Amino acid sequence: MMTYENPSRASLPLVLVAAGRGHRAGEGLPKQYRVLMGVPVLVHTLRAVLRDERIGPVQCVIHPDDLALYQACIDQLDHAGQSRLLPAVSGGQTRQLSVKAGLEALQIRAEAEDHLFQSVLVHDAARAFVSTGLLDRAVTAAHETIAAIPAVAVTDTLKWVDETGRVGGTAERARLRAVQTPQAFGFAALLDAHRQAAASGQADLTDDAAVMEQAGYVVSIFAGDPHNIKLTLEEDFRMAEAKMQAAMIPVTGLGYDVHAFTTGDHVWLGGVKIAHDRGVRAHSDGDVILHALTDALLGALADGDIGQHFPPSDEQWRGASSDRFVQFAVDRIHQRGGRLVHVDITLVCETPRLGPHRTEILGVLSRLCGLPTTKIGLKATTSEKMGFTGRGEGLAAQAIATVLLPD
Ligand code: MG
Repeated sequence: MMTYENPSRASLPLVLVAAGRGHRAGEGLPKQYRVLMGVPVLVHTLRAVLRDERIGPVQCVIHPDDLALYQACIDQLDHAGQSRLLPAVSGGQTRQLSVKAGLEALQIRAEAEDHLFQSVLVHDAARAFVSTGLLDRAVTAAHETIAAIPAVAVTDTLKWVDETGRVGGTAERARLRAVQTPQAFGFAALLDAHRQAAASGQADLTDDAAVMEQAGYVVSIFAGDPHNIKLTLEEDFRMAEAKMQAAMIPVTGLGYDVHAFTTGDHVWLGGVKIAHDRGVRAHSDGDVILHALTDALLGALADGDIGQHFPPSDEQWRGASSDRFVQFAVDRIHQRGGRLVHVDITLVCETPRLGPHRTEILGVLSRLCGLPTTKIGLKATTSEKMGFTGRGEGLAAQAIATVLLPD
């Protein structure tokens, strides 16, 4: 799945540092795996950097204990994104040594492919809000200079304090910059500088520019972005969530499905098998509730319909259990960085009655949609003996889904 398919198309490798153990954000997970708007921070960051087609391959550096967490993140990327990732490597004791591990892995890859990387970007996984503009400046810097870093002016006055908390002096603010990632370097120069630093026993330089400075290179700056924050503290996560929520747009999708009765002894409704004096004619299990719901979810994404993704002509869907269709559509929402917030469903038929199975069906829908049952409307109506449902010729269902999508 994590195959790196085309080394020549994208030629600016990026080392993504995701090996930290930072728990300052409070929750048990390292911050790069903490969930923000339903998606781990690392997934947000990967999607952000992969938006720039010039960047790749991406070499993630992770902590060996986090392999399963990392894999779960990669599974949330689309195939095109996955194909631009190299297999992750394990980080070192410090950030400095982790970047070195990523660079060494890229170098091995380059040698194996008889290929040279001219430049490289290094980015922190905890900076999930890297913008396309900032990436563009970093890519340009990577092609033009041997070492360049994004920087923003400092607005707070900075002071030195002693151990007792007493002010020992005031910094000259005009000459200070807060420095971010992605940082851009000549590949060979950065790898060399890291090897030198490690060989001299240095391990705790906090950014790669410092490694280059120590090796005697001139480091230049380009415009950073005040929104490109490093998610570190609990407040950072709260503010980030509020900002993302405000930037999401609500969309709705509508779904409708019908199946005709035929001979049989059960029907499937909302993922629950219900004994009945008839069955339904269908290629799959004929679950009108789950089919209407799937189409509502796909409709919210403007992403075709159930028949397009699971053609009835395809033998593999014969008798298929319909929960996989819903799961597929929910995954598509997450892949787009979206969030399902509410669904409402109406079943239309004379029989069977929904009531006795309502709680069980709600449980299935809750699990499939990742929603509490308070966010799932589930209703039934007859059509007063009129029309095909009224005459008992079949079942129909309508569904509507509300989804938040990034702008
Ligand atoms: Mg159907």
